[in-house]
Amino acid sequence: MTRNPLKDGFGREITYLRLSVTDRCDLRCTYCMAEHMTFLPKRDVLSLEELERLAGAFIDRGVRKIRLTGGEPLVRRDVMTLLARLGRRLEAGELDELTVTTNGTQLTHLADLLRATGVKRINVSLDTLDDAKFETLTRRNVLSKVLRGLDAAQNAGLKVKINTVALKGVNEAEIPALVEWSHGRGMDMTLIEVMPLGEIEEDRIDQYLPLSAVFDDLSSRWTMTPLEMRTGGPARYHRVEETGGVLGMITPLTNNFCAGCNRVRVTCTGQIYMCLGHSDRVDLRAALRSENPDAALDAALDRAMLKKPERHDFDISERGAAPSVPRHMSVTGG
Ligand code: SAM
Ligand code: SF4
Repeated sequence: MTRNPLKDGFGREITYLRLSVTDRCDLRCTYCMAEHMTFLPKRDVLSLEELERLAGAFIDRGVRKIRLTGGEPLVRRDVMTLLARLGRRLEAGELDELTVTTNGTQLTHLADLLRATGVKRINVSLDTLDDAKFETLTRRNVLSKVLRGLDAAQNAGLKVKINTVALKGVNEAEIPALVEWSHGRGMDMTLIEVMPLGEIEEDRIDQYLPLSAVFDDLSSRWTMTPLEMRTGGPARYHRVEETGGVLGMITPLTNNFCAGCNRVRVTCTGQIYMCLGHSDRVDLRAALRSENPDAALDAALDRAMLKKPERHDFDISERGAAPSVPRHMSVTGG
């Protein structure tokens, strides 16, 4: 029995932590970052020991699943040590799952190591299979490296899910082919609506493709059987009968999913955000760096729980509007 499990003011139990280990990234996806980003100075970022202690505090309060994210989590040099240490908590039965969301560029050399830490499943973000489009979208010419990384991940025995952001006029026409390709390789896929997070160099309204329209298009091609499978997260799942794979859809803008929310996000500077769509946060780094970190962390987590809002309120409808949330997705890691 967990002592004092994390529960918010609406009775939702928090069992899932998304922990960002860096704000840095080797790509510059146009919907996520600007080309020239100012990254955080090292002293502001939690050390390996602080990340481990923080994760431990969440585990002690009932968190059963941890996902490392970023920025690009696999570009942080000591991330494998952190994963190995958290992997021991898996072995001890204190965690049910340890996962990573990655852009896939480092998998060629890290896939085997990742599997050895106890990670069984990873999410790899991939928005197009077209070299030129990939380069335009990510501002880097590394699609072949990502594809080799995917091979390495599957060869290492990792189960891979592809995450694709649906972008109007960019990968819109390619979505059915991406679904077929992913399912053909035994990978499930999740489509994501672009969210208004952080200032970028384009207007979000030009990127926004409602998944309701994508779903209608896919339903006219294929038999989409709704699945009951829920992860406490925002995705709704369908089996595509013709391809045999599962397709998830994350629709923050066309569909509200907050009632079953079981997660919180912590940035690499130890700021806990209770909701992706709100700016309210609690500083866990101050607690970690205080005289009595264990007690201070517990108290800070209690404060955070009381601040978790009932739902997000993203809005992308107005051209030229400021982003709903000023921080970039790379800060909280999606
Ligand atoms: N670098 C890793 C990656 O790309 O998978 C992990 C961090 S990235 C911020 C996590 C996910 O957020 C990726 O799937 C990315 O496509 C998605 N993402 C980034 N900015 C977004 C936005 N504004 N709206 C929707 N999804 C976004
Ligand atoms: Fe980097 Fe991921 Fe953001 Fe792309 S989506 S810039 S890979 S953090």
